[in-house]
Amino acid sequence: MQHFPCPFCGVRDETEFHFVVEAGKPRPEPAKDVSDDQWATYLHLGKAHRGKAKEIWLHQTCGLYFLMNRNTVTREIISSEYLPEAEE
Ligand SMILES: [Zn+2]
Repeated sequence: MQHFPCPFCGVRDETEFHFVVEAGKPRPEPAKDVSDDQWATYLHLGKAHRGKAKEIWLHQTCGLYFLMNRNTVTREIISSEYLPEAEE
């Protein structure tokens, strides 16, 4: 079993986490003009980086979304960071 570091809670078992999306993947906008194919591509066709990857994860226990840099081949966790605050 892997262990992932939540920036708020610390290191926990991987079963407490859920992968959300590859970081930097732009959501197609505006939503009313997005085709079904564009939306399906956004949801299901990622790059699935081999090696170093930046990903958004959810720690289901505390509800925090955060950025994790990891190596998908070696399973090394490089960093775990809070997401920047969204501007309003
Ligand atoms: Zn947490």
